[in-house]
Amino acid sequence: MDWADELAARVSGPQVVNDSKTPSGTVHVGSLRGPVILDVITRALRAADRPTTLLYGVDDLDPMDAQALLTPDAVEREMGRPLAHIPDQEPDGHASYARHHAQVFIDTFAGLGIRPDRYYWMSELYAAGEMDPYIRLALDRAERVREVYRRVANVRHPDAWHPLSVICESCGRLGTTIVSRWDGERVYYECRPDLVTWARGCGNSGSVAPFGGRAKLPWNLEWAAQWSLFAVTIEPCGKDLATAGGSRDRSDAIAREVFEREPPINVPYEFLNIGGRKMSTSKGRGAAAHRIVEVVPPEQLRLLFLRPRPGSAIEFDPDGTDAIPRLFDEFDRLAAATAGRDVKGELPAGYEAVFAYSLLDPAGDLAAEAARFRPAFSHLALLEQVAGVDVRAQVEAEKGSPLDVAEAAILDERRRAARAWLATYAPERSRLAVRQDGVPPEAHALDSSQRAFLRALADAATGRPGTPVGGDAWQAAIFAVAVDADLPAGRAFAALYLAFLGRPNGPRAGWLLAGLEPAFVVRRLREAADAAATGAGA
Ligand SMILES: [Zn+2]
Ligand SMILES: [Zn+2]
Repeated sequence: MDWADELAARVSGPQVVNDSKTPSGTVHVGSLRGPVILDVITRALRAADRPTTLLYGVDDLDPMDAQALLTPDAVEREMGRPLAHIPDQEPDGHASYARHHAQVFIDTFAGLGIRPDRYYWMSELYAAGEMDPYIRLALDRAERVREVYRRVANVRHPDAWHPLSVICESCGRLGTTIVSRWDGERVYYECRPDLVTWARGCGNSGSVAPFGGRAKLPWNLEWAAQWSLFAVTIEPCGKDLATAGGSRDRSDAIAREVFEREPPINVPYEFLNIGGRKMSTSKGRGAAAHRIVEVVPPEQLRLLFLRPRPGSAIEFDPDGTDAIPRLFDEFDRLAAATAGRDVKGELPAGYEAVFAYSLLDPAGDLAAEAARFRPAFSHLALLEQVAGVDVRAQVEAEKGSPLDVAEAAILDERRRAARAWLATYAPERSRLAVRQDGVPPEAHALDSSQRAFLRALADAATGRPGTPVGGDAWQAAIFAVAVDADLPAGRAFAALYLAFLGRPNGPRAGWLLAGLEPAFVVRRLREAADAAATGAGA
C-alpha cells in the first residue's frame, strides 16, 4: 500500500484538500512537488470512496517583496503593494502581475493532470467580504494572537500590535502599514517609511473600517482563516513551514485558539534538491518548472515527485547527467513490474500504486497502461541523432509488431523529449558527434581482424553493385562483409563506431553510415584501417 492510500484509509467522511501559493514570480520545478502530492492524496481519497474536493488558492493579496521581476521604473512604486494591484510586467494582457504568474503555474498543473475543483483568489475573497468575520475575530482577540506568537514562536509583538495590514489609502502599499488600535468598527494605522527593508511607506496615518478588501490578515492568520472558510481537512506543506515554532505551528495554534477549529491533517514534504542545492522558490538556473516540463513529459515528472515518500528529499540534477534518462528507465521498470514481468533491482513499497499515480488519467486501465510497449529513452536519443533513420520502423522491429495508437503517441512524446533533452541537459557523451576532422585516436585500438573488416567494407562499397543506399542496404552490407571476414557482428559494429564516433557503441550502424556522405564513409573506412595498422599512439 502506498502512503496516500494509508492516509485515505485513516480518514472518514467528506474531505477538503487545500493548498495555496503566492504568485510572486517564476515557479521552480521543486514547487511542483506539493501540487503533485495534493493530487495523489485526492485520487487516493476518491479511490477509497471519500467524497473529496480539491482546492487551490492564489494568495494574491500578499505584498510584493521581491523586485527581481519588476521593471526598474516600477520598483519604487510597486514594492509593498498587493500583487493583485500591480500591473502585469509583461505585455501579454493579464489583469495583474499576480494573474500573470498564477497563470503560469495553473497551466503547469493542468499539464501534469492536476485539476483542482476550484481555484480561489484571496483578493476576491477579501473584496467579497468572505474574510470579514475572521478579520473581526482576529482583531477582537488580538491579545490572544500576540500570546500565541509569544508562546509558539517566541515572537514578541508590542502590546499595541494588531494582526492586520491595511492597504494604505494614500500610497496603496500593504507591507508598510501597522495597526495600533481597533475600536470595534475601525482600525487606526500608520504607513511607515521604515517598517520593512524591502518597501518604503509614505508616512500617511488614518483610520478605516478594515473590511471588504481594505485590509489583509498576516499570513499565519490568513492560512488558518482559509481552513475555517473552506472546512479544510487535509493540507500538506513544505518542510520549511513545518519546523517547530514555524509557520504551520503558528497557524495550527491560531486555528485552535483564535478561530476555534481543529487544523487539517498535515503531510509535511521534503524539498527537491537540484545538484545538492535546495530548490524551493526563487533562485536557480535551468530549474524553472516550465523549462523542465519542456523536456520531461508529465508522467515521468509525476514519478520524479512520487517515487520517494513525501518525507524524503529528492536529489535531482538534470544538467549534464543521465538523471532524465534514468527517470524514464525507472518509469519503464515500474510499468514492467506492474505488468507482472521480472525486473532488476528492488521495487519501492506499493510500486503498483506509484506507477498508477504517475499516470495522467486517474481512470485509465492500469493493466493496459503497464503492458504498453515503451522504447528506451537512451536508445531513442541515439536514433534521433542519425540522419535518415525511420525511428518508428526501428521501434516496431524491436517490439516485433506494429505500435498501437497509444504506443505511437508514447513514441512521439519520447522522441520530442529526447530531442529537447539533447538540446538542453544532455551530457556531451550522449551527443553523437561524427569525428569529421580525422580518425579518432580511439580507433587505434582496433585489432587486425577489425582492420581487415573495415578495408573489406570499403572495397565492397566501391565495387559492384556500388555504394549501398539507405540504412537497410548498409546494414545488409555490414553483415555480409562481417560474415565473409569471419568477424562476429558485435566486433564489426564496434569497429565502425570507433572509426566514426571514437567510441565502442552507437546507434544502428547502417543508419549512421547512410546518413553520411558516401565518399567520406569510404575514405574514413580506409583511413581507420590504415591508422590502426600503423599503431600510432595518438
Ligand atoms: Zn502577463
Ligand atoms: Zn502609504
